Amino acid sequence: MVESHKLSKKRPRTDSLASKDEVVRHEDLWFEDGSIVLVADDTQFRVHKSILACESSVFQDMFTVAQPDDMETVEGCSVLRLTDSAEDLGYVLWALYHGLRYKNGEMPTWFTLRAFLRLGDKYALEEIYAEAMHHLNNLAFRTVQDSNTFYYGDSSTSCISDAHLDPWEVVDIANNTKDPDLQRIHIGALYCCCQIPLKKLLYGVKDSNGARVKLCSEDLLSCLVARERLHVVLCEALDKAPCDALSSDCQSLNACRDARDAIVSCMRIWDRELEHHPLGMDKGFLKDISEQSQMCTLCTQLLLVQYAATCQKILDHLPAFFKSDGNAEAQWKLSTEQY
Ligand SMILES: [Zn+2]
Repeated sequence: MVESHKLSKKRPRTDSLASKDEVVRHEDLWFEDGSIVLVADDTQFRVHKSILACESSVFQDMFTVAQPDDMETVEGCSVLRLTDSAEDLGYVLWALYHGLRYKNGEMPTWFTLRAFLRLGDKYALEEIYAEAMHHLNNLAFRTVQDSNTFYYGDSSTSCISDAHLDPWEVVDIANNTKDPDLQRIHIGALYCCCQIPLKKLLYGVKDSNGARVKLCSEDLLSCLVARERLHVVLCEALDKAPCDALSSDCQSLNACRDARDAIVSCMRIWDRELEHHPLGMDKGFLKDISEQSQMCTLCTQLLLVQYAATCQKILDHLPAFFKSDGNAEAQWKLSTEQY
């Protein structure tokens, strides 16, 4: 499994007395017939030039450059020192040798996808990069269906979703998707960050090693302004959807009007519950509310359509929610006037 290879235990603790130059051989990625030794941090990987060159034009180019006579070698293999982390390199090399085996029912962790994203781009490893994008695109939230898949996706969903991500991972995804090409994923990650309790967002969220992961100050500011704006549109969406929910073909207008009033008062609770998460109103939940209030099928359908339409408008303008300069403030008001 991509996730299960043991790398961290191979790395000496940074607080140990081990010499800085001390290197360890990777437990699984050291092949006796390998033709090159890659060194990242303090870990050596003995692998095959042919495999790297086949997958990556960048490695292919590196290997065709003439090597100096005094080139560093280990057991006769030339050594190539890389600036990547041993952890990232381990995940990527593992996948090159063993394939994307977590596809058999298991989700990749963010550690794996982060390595794929960074090194896939840097070394032009197309399949590796495409795999990272396949999962991260689930955070791009272009349509209501996208956000529903992310938040409420069923077991058939083959991408990472809200259920697979800890808060620190969401922050780290935002920190690793600042490239303009990844803007929509970045915005989706920031939307998820808005759902993290404010104190944690400000002071950082602890990762699995206990280290605090924080947003940069620019993204933090974006989230703070977006949280306010998302709350405003959430309240409006909750007010608006039931008001427009009486179908012109309704056969029981009086009963549905009463049902609507009951739903409106029920929605008040959700203002506080959902806070900054207008996309968090599960369709199934809305349906339950309207069924409990005995709204007719036609009006219930209309309620669901209305709420989905409002969510789609929010998604259409989602980047504007995160713009924090003066001009952007005016633009946001303009672009979201229809709420
Ligand atoms: Zn009705």
